[in-house]
Amino acid sequence: GGPPGRRNRGRDDQGQYGEGGDEGGGVERLALIRGTDIHVRTAASSFQDFVRNFVSVEESEKAVRRAERERRRERRAERTAADGDGNGSESGDSDDDEDMDRDEEEGEEEYAKVPMYMDKLRSILLGRNDAHDPNQDNVVDDAELAHAGSAPTASSLDINSIHMYYHSPQCQRLYSQLVSYPAEIVPLMDLVLMRELTSLWALLQEELDEDDPDRLLLPSSESELPRVQVRPFNLRRLSHMRALDPDSIDALLSLRGMVVRTSPVIPDLKVAHFSCAVCGTAVTITVDRGRIAEPTRCETCGVRDSHRLIHNRCVFGDKQMVRVQETPDEVPSGETPASVVVFAYDDLVDAVRPGDRVEVTGVFRAQARRVNPKITRVKSVYRTYLDVIHFRGVGAGARKMGE
Ligand SMILES: [Zn+2]
Repeated sequence: GGPPGRRNRGRDDQGQYGEGGDEGGGVERLALIRGTDIHVRTAASSFQDFVRNFVSVEESEKAVRRAERERRRERRAERTAADGDGNGSESGDSDDDEDMDRDEEEGEEEYAKVPMYMDKLRSILLGRNDAHDPNQDNVVDDAELAHAGSAPTASSLDINSIHMYYHSPQCQRLYSQLVSYPAEIVPLMDLVLMRELTSLWALLQEELDEDDPDRLLLPSSESELPRVQVRPFNLRRLSHMRALDPDSIDALLSLRGMVVRTSPVIPDLKVAHFSCAVCGTAVTITVDRGRIAEPTRCETCGVRDSHRLIHNRCVFGDKQMVRVQETPDEVPSGETPASVVVFAYDDLVDAVRPGDRVEVTGVFRAQARRVNPKITRVKSVYRTYLDVIHFRGVGAGARKMGE
């Protein structure tokens, strides 16, 4: 199990989108991720542009309109150049556009535009715990849930995916890729964020004076930077647990309901440590989506099936099973409420408790289970669940952060 691949991926991924130019693997970098329409560098640069420049949906829409006007003007200039001195009606259009430009640009100067997600990254760098503020949500009475647990909450960054959708045509495409292929896009976003966090850290190191109070809060070396993970939420479409589409398996989806049960914390194997019983050679294997590729033959002594799992040298994370049920108003009359199982990992463990009304954003999974072969109904062959990426409190019962 586990969130979409992010915990199971090593540093290998970093080579996939680097701006390194010619140093090795150039061909692979330009390739699409197998089985998807994701062009890695395009997706990474779209997300980077979003993180660096998103101020508000209004500002993004203005920028898109401005770019369209710019393109129209260039085309007109080309036509005019080709025609000679052009004609009257076209220059009239051009004047209107320029007036609009001026109006919009004057309006923009009234306040300082702070890119929202860069500001959040700055807060994370300075160890300020405000990266989970509810931000311009269209749900009026929602509130972020308290992110309990011992892990620093600032190591995750909530991304309102509606912001991304409206940022640019490129980000609109990225949004659809995120929904269809979260296992590929979420780790890619994590890598982009880490790179942005690192450059921001380097910039602040240079910019802040020695006696600036913020300077003291800044990590003193690059190795102390927190790991940041993206938590996308607020998808454009809500799914209903009564009608989960098998076509959505492995896709990102959001659904709402009430938490009815939470399990105790379950240890979640992340790195398996094996030792050869014959010669003692150790092998560590990163668990990939719940599967452990146990070594079959020792590379040192050549003996087959000689490996034993050494429990106290394995790396475990936290995992929790949460059952979310339809709220009474959603249950058709005469029916029993539908429910789904969702798995929360690491700092999302204990983030919700029974009675909470939540919107869960996560990856829809199906796992084959061993069944009596006489039972042939397709329903009983797979169990479905969600690997949680984000919890959001909704409705009147939502807890305010910190309560
Ligand atoms: Zn051996």
